[in-house]
Amino acid sequence: MNEQEVKNIVVAGGGTAGWIAATALKKGLGDRVNVTLVESDDIPTVGVGEATIPPLLVLHQILGISEREFMSATNATFKLGIAFENWKDLNTKYIHSFGVAGKDCWACGFSHFWIKGMQEGLADEYGDYCLEHLAARENKFAVVANNGLNYAYHLDAGLYAKFLRGTSEECGVVRKEGKIKTVNLSKTNGFIESLTLESQENISGDFFIDCTGFRALLIGDALHTGFEDWSHWLLCDSAVAVQTESVRPPVPYTRSIAHEAGWQWQIPLQNRTGNGLVYCSRYMDDETAKNTLLKHVEGKTLNDPRIIKFKTGTRLKHWSKNCLALGLSSGFLEPLESTSIHLIQKSVIRFMQLFPGNGVKQVDIDEFNRQTKKDVDYIRDFIILHYCVTERDDSQFWRYCKNMSVPDTLKHRLSLFEETGRIFRGEDELFASESWIQVMMGQGLIPKTYHPIVDLMPRQELQQFLNRLKEITRSKLNQLPMHEEFIDKYCRSGERN
Ligand SMILES: Cc1cc2nc3c(=O)[nH]c(=O)nc-3n(C[C@H](O)[C@H](O)[C@H](O)COP(=O)(O)OP(=O)(O)OC[C@H]3O[C@@H](n4cnc5c(N)ncnc54)[C@H](O)[C@@H]3O)c2cc1C
Repeated sequence: MNEQEVKNIVVAGGGTAGWIAATALKKGLGDRVNVTLVESDDIPTVGVGEATIPPLLVLHQILGISEREFMSATNATFKLGIAFENWKDLNTKYIHSFGVAGKDCWACGFSHFWIKGMQEGLADEYGDYCLEHLAARENKFAVVANNGLNYAYHLDAGLYAKFLRGTSEECGVVRKEGKIKTVNLSKTNGFIESLTLESQENISGDFFIDCTGFRALLIGDALHTGFEDWSHWLLCDSAVAVQTESVRPPVPYTRSIAHEAGWQWQIPLQNRTGNGLVYCSRYMDDETAKNTLLKHVEGKTLNDPRIIKFKTGTRLKHWSKNCLALGLSSGFLEPLESTSIHLIQKSVIRFMQLFPGNGVKQVDIDEFNRQTKKDVDYIRDFIILHYCVTERDDSQFWRYCKNMSVPDTLKHRLSLFEETGRIFRGEDELFASESWIQVMMGQGLIPKTYHPIVDLMPRQELQQFLNRLKEITRSKLNQLPMHEEFIDKYCRSGERN
């Protein structure tokens, strides 16, 4: 397709996506490549994106990032899951934790034993058998070597980009400040040849990474790569964000509180809280959204509320010609399960695996796009699940969500679970069965039956099994310190309210 060796890589944009890409490529490929990152001081980053999921720890290991240093530099706290309030119905709450409940057997998961236990009046709340769930509920946390808690972070997005920039420049990435004015294409094969800045400087390269955010200057404006719109399944198209002073010690979980036409996030950092309301402009105007958010935040606001507009969906191709789209330029799924930064990480690692050393090949592009589409489709279904399985019918928004038709892949998972309690993880799928189980049951979908193997366990034995698991989980919990106490010792930043 193009025999030219890929030596000079240009990253357009310096938000979370740009700096993750630049750092990973330079760390991974060393002197084999030159990496230049272009960003404009006049165009701010999106400035949100503060909740993450556990695979970020793997990326940090790859990049050689010290956890303590990173946490202290970004005012980070630990995250064990997400508490969903008012999602199943008003005045309900459940936690999607990063942990695994109980103990599986070879033929079926713990949830089957738990379902029978519930039917027979022998079991307690599902989360009582999961350490991460209990630790979140009781505000406890510790990093324990070997077999500890499965966790992620809450971080300050602005400080994270700054921190990554430091790591990136240390390993040899060259940063150029300037506004990209034109993207120049080859007349022969339509590949990107260079970027011209407003200063007239020309930055040429063999490969380009589009991290220009929602603007998508390279993959969208220049290469006209189409977009698959998912807004008929995921109605929200706007968000309003504001930061507030902390009013209590940070909890080790994100709060997601459903409202009349969307939902509110609350992300506790060491020194402040990040808040936002994601909403559907068809059912809630910007002014009402702003007022709704301000009415529900706790603590004094630290900045003016900022409105962000977005379109939910995905690029038809995340890699086109000699351009890879990462982050917001590649598409957007609302931050309900904190998956965007993860998708950046996943695509960067996949790109490294398919790195076009001696020229860009269509087979590599096709394989990349095939795998990426699967990733994104799985996550899309998981997010839709939170909206379509609900008992809420108190507003037009919720009535639409409850009655909408959903992708066939999701329809199948829901029926399989409802009829049999069974759930299988897809090929290389991000969310494990345990995540699906917690959210499906949390949203009110309880299987009608359980695996027949469970009946081989006599009632008294089942009772003992459940009791024992609960005791073990509780005794592990009792050994953990309070979350804030642990932060103080482990990674307290200099800045504190
Ligand atoms: C409301 C909301 C909440 C979110 N919450 C989460 C979350 O909790 N967890 C999560 O994982 N993700 C979240 N995300 C997504 C997350 O914020 C992004 O995936 C992440 O910040 C990456 O953004 P980005 O780097 O692609 O774009 P941006 O941060 O927008 O960066 C774009 C960069 O491109 C540069 N640029 C643009 N145009 C030009 C030009 N002409 N010339 C030069 N430079 C240019 C800018 O200067 C900037 O450096 C959220 C997103 C939104 C909208």
